[in-house]
Amino acid sequence: MESFCTEYRNGSSPEKPSTEKSTATVGTVFQIQRFSIHDGPGIRTTVFLKGCPMRCLWCHNPESMKPETELGYRRNRCVGCGQCVLACPQGALTVCKEGIRRDGALCQVCLACTAACPTGAMEAYGRRMTPAEAADAVRLDKRYYDKTGGGATFSGGEPLSQPEFVRETAELLRREGIRTAIETSLYAAPHALEEVAPICDYIMTDIKVMDDAVHQKVTGCSNRRILANLVRLARYPVPVLIRIPVVPGINDSAQNAEQTARFLFENTPYRKIELLPMHKLATHKYEALGLDYPAQDIPLPTEEAVRQMARTLRTMGMEVLEK
Ligand code: SF4
Ligand code: SF4
Repeated sequence: MESFCTEYRNGSSPEKPSTEKSTATVGTVFQIQRFSIHDGPGIRTTVFLKGCPMRCLWCHNPESMKPETELGYRRNRCVGCGQCVLACPQGALTVCKEGIRRDGALCQVCLACTAACPTGAMEAYGRRMTPAEAADAVRLDKRYYDKTGGGATFSGGEPLSQPEFVRETAELLRREGIRTAIETSLYAAPHALEEVAPICDYIMTDIKVMDDAVHQKVTGCSNRRILANLVRLARYPVPVLIRIPVVPGINDSAQNAEQTARFLFENTPYRKIELLPMHKLATHKYEALGLDYPAQDIPLPTEEAVRQMARTLRTMGMEVLEK
């Protein structure tokens, strides 16, 4: 499991202490990842926010779904020392055959066990931060952003679920000439989009599947709000990259590709699509959270299926990026 960048692990001070603490806004962040190269142009620092209203079957970040801080247990890192059990003031942890068992009814998520664990097997997902603290972490790599055209990306989870935090952090960064981007599902209230879109230099968003009944079945949410926000987004002069997570049997048909391209042509100025083949690299995260992996029975997309989808989209006039 990736963790907070070194400067923030264990709550230690960042290189440059924050001097801007006046804001009352606080966000919940589950990871700050430096040197990201897949979250927008150039080298970036990605601020992953906690909380997402969607429940996509293939989600790669299950630790981002709930808005509150959570506790994860990585059995493969556990050496069975029992320090966590001793540290727990609630008596919520016990040693068992499978490692450490936590009684969710007793646990108060105080995180004493994560502080006591010497191996990182007990791990907290989510930390409350001010915009100034997040900006301090991002500006550490400004020289790399300047050289590569990179910057900060707010991802998640759903960054539009915490619009004040994103806007205030982005405003601090932009004052210093750091570019800002978001990765969003666009499943958000219009006011959240209107608060954040004007302070973005770049936006990445998904169109998961056009058939709304299928969309509801595989994400738990209707796509109507997403498509309406995509149209709304066209009011802002910001480059937008549309992404399709390619998920076999759900959205990899020629019909879905054609419907997606048609919607974009008829309603938006966006002509660039990136195809992101689904992967199963996040199963350990589900295990750590004690969750079943909902995409267990979905096969991985074949290269040919992704190529075919790209061909269909290009035939419809779209520019397609493949990963
Ligand atoms: S988070 Fe706190 S209450 Fe929960 S298991 Fe750990 S030490 Fe116990
Ligand atoms: S403190 Fe960490 S390594 Fe030790 S038993 Fe608990 S989870 Fe395992």
